Amino acid sequence: MAATFALICTQCGKQYPPDRPAGRQAAVHPRCDDCNEPLEVEIPTSGNIVPGEPLQQTILERYASFFPFEKIDRDLSLGEGFTPLVKAEHLAGQMGMQHLYFKNESTNPTWSFKDRGTITALQHALSLGYAAIGTVSTGNMAVSVAAYGVRAGLKTYILVGANMPPEKLNPILIHDPILIRVDGDYGNLYFESLAIGRKRAIYFMNSDVPFRVEGSKTIAFEICEQLNFQAPDYVVVPTSAGGNLRGIFKGFREFKNAGLIAGIPRIVCAQAAGCAPIYNAWNKGSEQIERIDNPQTMAHAIENPYPPSGNAVLRLLRENNGQAAAVSEEEIIDAQRELASEGIFGQPASAVPLAAVKQLRQNRTLTGNETVVCIVSGSGLKYTAALGKQTLSSFFCNISDLDGKIAEL
Ligand SMILES: [Zn+2]
Repeated sequence: MAATFALICTQCGKQYPPDRPAGRQAAVHPRCDDCNEPLEVEIPTSGNIVPGEPLQQTILERYASFFPFEKIDRDLSLGEGFTPLVKAEHLAGQMGMQHLYFKNESTNPTWSFKDRGTITALQHALSLGYAAIGTVSTGNMAVSVAAYGVRAGLKTYILVGANMPPEKLNPILIHDPILIRVDGDYGNLYFESLAIGRKRAIYFMNSDVPFRVEGSKTIAFEICEQLNFQAPDYVVVPTSAGGNLRGIFKGFREFKNAGLIAGIPRIVCAQAAGCAPIYNAWNKGSEQIERIDNPQTMAHAIENPYPPSGNAVLRLLRENNGQAAAVSEEEIIDAQRELASEGIFGQPASAVPLAAVKQLRQNRTLTGNETVVCIVSGSGLKYTAALGKQTLSSFFCNISDLDGKIAEL
């Protein structure tokens, strides 16, 4: 792809020129001036995989021809991406399925998929000459941006809600960002930060800005490579802001355009019923999401009451034969345990896709013959308090009784 590229509105199709270098009138265009819907980097018409070993490449180097970067600074990398695709034979058998896989994003440097979008947005910010970055986040993304920002030597602003508890603040603060707890409407902070960023030359790499979405497409690239360029039939994405789902779909489109795969999977938007603005709109046949007033779910990583890419995800699902599902808290708890039975400890949000697949299998949307990939978005160690919902048991004995105890069990 050439170093010049357009940004295109996901709703009205209006084209915007490439972002301008940082300065007094720094402009990173995340959204359309006309309809306020998210912009997207134009899709390259060709591309190839740069040969090499994951131990010696970064994801941006391997997939360089799908990114509009003139040069890639490999020193920014913490080794993000190249995550395992784990086949779940045991669970698939239980569910009457042939091919069930988990894309385990918990093996990223800061234990969630966010690192992919952070490295891509960071590369973009530096290419435009920014000296400061920031994000608005309740967890995974804040940790990721704090880690990469300090490494790159950039001033890094992390904006969180006023009442964030210390157990969530401290894993961000260990990287010494400028962390501001902001009192007020957290939902509006997303838009407010973009406006301040434009004024003060801070690159806010929020949940669904174009170059964070660009990072997510590498999840799709890797899945294609891991399945020998046979795209799966379904990819199930735990969905919050909507940027990750959009990026994954875009990745499959780009590989198809480049002639690397024959078809594009159907995407399932998986949400927790306690905060399911996209599913609710999908279910009603509405084109606009509505704000959830009182979100309640243990899947905090996807607890976004008014996702900024919600309408864009609805359009994407509608135009591409997608699906949406919402799962209960009980289904999430069960699925987290079942995921662990395959050796993968995901945070509650990461169990939502498996719970959704179970629903789709039960209502026969899935016949069982399809190849299905669930995205495990982040590590269970991020939120161990959720383990209080599980029924976990152990044994006890004196060391002198240990042999007998083991014989008994
Ligand atoms: Zn527009």
